[in-house]
Amino acid sequence: MKSVELLDTTLRDGAQSEGISFSVHDKLAIVETLDALGIPLIEAGNPGSNPKDMDFFRAVRALKLAHARIAAFGATRKPGTSVADDAQVQSLAGANASVLVIFGKSWNLHVTEVLKTTLAENVSMIRDTIAFAKTRAERVIYDAEHFYDGWLANRAYALQTVEAAAEAGADTIGLCDTNGGTFPETIGEATADVVKHLRGRAAVGIHTHDDSGLAVANALAAVRAGATHVQGTLAGFGERCGNANLSTILANLQLKAGYACIPADCLPNLTAATRRVAEISNIVLPDGMPYVGTKAFTHKAGMHMDGVRKCSTAFEHVPPESVGGARRFLISEIAGRSAVLERIRRVEPSVQKNDKMVDALVKQLKQLEQAGYQFEGADGSFDLLVRKALGTYQPHFTLEHYQIIGERPARTEQQGSAAIVKISVAGCTEITTAEGDGPVNALDRSLRKALERFYPSLTNMRLSDFKVRVLDGNRATEAKVRVLIESTDGRDIWSTVGVSTDMIEASWLALVDSIEYWLIRNEGPKVGRA
Ligand SMILES: [Zn+2]
Repeated sequence: MKSVELLDTTLRDGAQSEGISFSVHDKLAIVETLDALGIPLIEAGNPGSNPKDMDFFRAVRALKLAHARIAAFGATRKPGTSVADDAQVQSLAGANASVLVIFGKSWNLHVTEVLKTTLAENVSMIRDTIAFAKTRAERVIYDAEHFYDGWLANRAYALQTVEAAAEAGADTIGLCDTNGGTFPETIGEATADVVKHLRGRAAVGIHTHDDSGLAVANALAAVRAGATHVQGTLAGFGERCGNANLSTILANLQLKAGYACIPADCLPNLTAATRRVAEISNIVLPDGMPYVGTKAFTHKAGMHMDGVRKCSTAFEHVPPESVGGARRFLISEIAGRSAVLERIRRVEPSVQKNDKMVDALVKQLKQLEQAGYQFEGADGSFDLLVRKALGTYQPHFTLEHYQIIGERPARTEQQGSAAIVKISVAGCTEITTAEGDGPVNALDRSLRKALERFYPSLTNMRLSDFKVRVLDGNRATEAKVRVLIESTDGRDIWSTVGVSTDMIEASWLALVDSIEYWLIRNEGPKVGRA
């Protein structure tokens, strides 16, 4: 089996994404996640650029990594200086990283118009910096910035820059589509040109961005043309429209193109690892993300469900379990009886096709949908509905009452509301108060505080998304609202729903379902001890 080496740059290029700010702790958690997935190279920042990055390099050395090596990232020396006098280049050595990635200019326009130096000086800058890096690290990668734009503008010069890097000792030349505007045909042609030109003196790599929606296609085109090293970010995070999505690339290469990227037994961890990186980054992954999104193996049309049950390849390009995903059948009026039966069997496999409870549940489902519920995106609530219909549902707690207090103007932004919650668990009552950023947040915090005494595992779950939809909008304040809550424990994601004319009440119903769903799966159906 041919192999392709992956370099994840979530900590460097990914950190340049809007809305991302990693602490040292976040970075270490991402390193551990990527390492467990079997990613061989992890690019971190420049140790000289800020003290936080230096702290990271110091701390990462203490981690015991099974697969990954950490790479430090920096630029070629400044024009008109020597590497010895260039603080940025010297600081790279301070990272003590066994792999150094040096980026430089390969597009003549950048050399003369941005760097304001000569084409010859830029080639010397590449040569000097790579040669220095080679004395400080086992492995040196030259990232040829804007390579493809440069290749189109001045092919001879672009090739001269990578030639200089290879001569100076670079082990791998990463060809970058920095602006993300190149088409796969050009990527293929230019990459093949470099492979031919270098004649094996250095490996060829690819680094793409998604500005034209082609980052994955472009990376695959480069591999087809002879690239053996692919750079990207596991969840596709990165500047502007993002970097090449490594989760998609590695699944494509490994499952469909016959390349080994990570150890075969790590591939089923792909979905969990990608979601974990998103979780640490505090970014919600698109539901429709290839292979790892929550909708990746979701079926709604009755005909598709029927087809996939008979033969999974009828409507699935790969088996969901190959990447650690799960097939989902959406429950709605149009799904029909067989989809409902399928979902019931996930809770209780012994239920027969002609069981009366199936019809009763289908009927109840229709009534609830009429009342404004939607279970399509609320698998957690549907699971509980099935347990109630089976008679196996035992609530872990009961509500005595709750009260919400709003304070205007709020003293601080986070504490404009407070909630008092009184619950009972197996005869013990608990009253708690908590403040929150709005009434629902206060209610959530207060309820958790009350329950954590009985169920300490609840600290592992949290709400990750909250959507409110006003139904029947023409009756204004009389209208019902549907609240959809998404919760996560960092591994799994589940959704629950509540409907009421009162927004707080609808939120409460969805909140209780979310917590009950977690407790059933993590504490079993028993009632906890006080
Ligand atoms: Zn980039």
